[in-house]
Amino acid sequence: MVRYGDVAAVDGLTFSVPRGSILALLGPNGAGKTTTVEALEGYRRPDGGTVRVLGLDPRRDRGSLTPRIGVMLQEGGVYTGIRPAEVLSLFASYYDDPADPDELVGRVGLHDRRRTTWRHLSGGEKQRLSLALALVGRPEVAFLDEPTAGVDPEGRQLIRSVVAALRDDGVTVLLTTHDLDEAERLADHVVIIDHGRILASGTPAELMQSGTSEEIRFGAPAGLDVRALTARLGAATEEVAPGEYRVGAAPTPATVAALTAWLAEHDLPLADLRAGRQRLEDVFLRLTAEQGSAATDDVEGRDRAGRRGARGRRARR
Ligand code: ATP
Repeated sequence: MVRYGDVAAVDGLTFSVPRGSILALLGPNGAGKTTTVEALEGYRRPDGGTVRVLGLDPRRDRGSLTPRIGVMLQEGGVYTGIRPAEVLSLFASYYDDPADPDELVGRVGLHDRRRTTWRHLSGGEKQRLSLALALVGRPEVAFLDEPTAGVDPEGRQLIRSVVAALRDDGVTVLLTTHDLDEAERLADHVVIIDHGRILASGTPAELMQSGTSEEIRFGAPAGLDVRALTARLGAATEEVAPGEYRVGAAPTPATVAALTAWLAEHDLPLADLRAGRQRLEDVFLRLTAEQGSAATDDVEGRDRAGRRGARGRRARR
């Protein structure tokens, strides 16, 4: 539990990360991800509960834990006039057995920028340097807060391969991200939170399996005759976005065959087809929407109770 005044930013959150694996902590803005990560890093004192990293208390055992963890912050926190090669060498000097700064600068694709000052690096280059700084002490546990935010596709690919290689080297990684494809591809385990509480956790495959739905989604040219298709399939078909369709039927081979046959008869291309298992993004959106409406019901319920209470008090006066 972590409170900010009256707000319980993290409340009853329980999870563990097996060594040498990647856990992605997901949630909408304000869900409590950064607060959770800060409690694990020892920057924030929990108001209740137990936090352990490598079996140590992040605040009480800070001295022995700090050299064993690597932290990538959302904001760089680097002197703006320093260059990648310099700051990596400086950070390396704090550790007994650091990574080689030259190798690291190459690993994050900044070899050509190693003599450019921080202030002249692009946003994506700063992110990659921040990642390198988190790794310079050869951490056993790496905390990466939105490591690919604001990074171009090539840079994201590079960061993901660096993170995947960490796991192969036995490093435990906890990352936050708003890129659900990234979590789906990279993470061994996913925890979805909102309002400081866990909504779901499991492997990406488990979560996507749990979201198995009685619907078929497909992409085709915009403006199809959905009434004709509905009649043909015997199931409600709607265009949920231009060129994006949803059929409210179980994805049986017969229904999928009828759909593709109808498209073929009308000489229409099929851009993509999804049946059964949902993407992690679909699961995330469903869970957080349910949580949002539950919270609204709760507020409305309390509101109604409050109004009833006020009426009751007025009536008694
Ligand atoms: P984002 O995806 O936007 O980074 P997050 O999941 O990391 O969000 P947190 O930054 O942990 O969320 O915030 C959780 C809640 O706590 C939010 O309601 C936020 O407004 C609140 N909060 C965060 N930091 C503080 C603070 N220093 N003082 C008061 N409230 C805070």
